[in-house]
Amino acid sequence: MQPKQRILEAPVYQPGKPIEDVKRELGLTEVIKLASNENPFGCSPKAVEAIQKQLGSLAIYPDGGTLELRWELAKFLNVEPDQLIFGNGSDEIILMIARAYLEKGTNTVMATPTFSQYRSNAIVEGAELREIPLKDGVHDLEAMAAAIDANTRVVWICNPNNPSGTIVSEADFLAFLAKVPGHVLVVLDEAYYEYVVAPEYPQTIPLLDKYPNLIILRTFSKIYGLAALRIGYGIASKEIVGHLNHVREPFNTSTLAQAAARAALADQAFVEKCRDLNRAGYQQLTAQFEAWGLDFYPSQTNFILVNINRDSDDVFRQLLQQGIIVRSGKALGFPGYQRITIGSAEQNERLLKALGSVLSGVLK
Ligand SMILES: *Cc1c(COP(=O)(O)O)cnc(C)c1O
Repeated sequence: MQPKQRILEAPVYQPGKPIEDVKRELGLTEVIKLASNENPFGCSPKAVEAIQKQLGSLAIYPDGGTLELRWELAKFLNVEPDQLIFGNGSDEIILMIARAYLEKGTNTVMATPTFSQYRSNAIVEGAELREIPLKDGVHDLEAMAAAIDANTRVVWICNPNNPSGTIVSEADFLAFLAKVPGHVLVVLDEAYYEYVVAPEYPQTIPLLDKYPNLIILRTFSKIYGLAALRIGYGIASKEIVGHLNHVREPFNTSTLAQAAARAALADQAFVEKCRDLNRAGYQQLTAQFEAWGLDFYPSQTNFILVNINRDSDDVFRQLLQQGIIVRSGKALGFPGYQRITIGSAEQNERLLKALGSVLSGVLK
């Protein structure tokens, strides 16, 4: 068998270690995962009820047009229903964008380090990568704009950025958009949108009227707590949604995912509660990091990239021994750092205790 050579150059995604795996491997019973930016508070109970109501119709294909969720989400976001595209996670929309717009002879501009899937999918399509280093952990939009040329098809902006947690401000983003030629698709990945509290964060949906070359990606995996169901969405001009529909699989979001997403969307009180608890967790963790003299990037997400000044993989393994799964910064382009998902207050307490013991001797 002879695969296409270039797919072998696309890295295989390395997920955060599953809890069951760690329990078995290390013989532990109490394991917590602060590695994949999952919601420590679960999801809305209404989403669980909505799934239970669907269990009698598993023999029937899902609604391929995602109509009810489409109408409700369009109303919620104040956009037209045909400005929405749904994916099996927003990961799938990233794949659809690459498939629809990138090929050999084109190039694509992104930050580095940023979310791994922009790069992987661009490699699969044979596009040239133009990766622009973050500046102080933030997208360098000036350098990104300067990297665009006639062969550029897609620019990726992860806002807030994973893995640094930082944001691009409204003023900087508007200045950037004004410089991007109309033939370039600007992808704005807002997976952590609902967690952001900074007033300078741009509200981007109103920009769609003026910028028909913009697509915004959001997801039900993060604050809505439905990562297991795989459902995310894109908001864009009808033209872009039309292009993506040509490469979308027929039934790409499941009946259970659609039902749960509708119920979760309707429960905004849950979202607000999680945002508040997350901010409290951010304070809890960063107060201790500061006391220890550890540097971290200011985060508008549910994770923190903290500089532990030690081999990331070593510290990762030592935390694992204590039943705590985090994400080693080494794999994410930040050697010497850990990316830690903000957990519940008790989980954060456990993490701090474990991290304190692992780092004892080198902390203030
Ligand atoms: C988690 C994440 C996604 C993917 O989320 P899905 O579960 O596929 O919807 C996309 N972008 C960023 C930056 C993420 O952190």
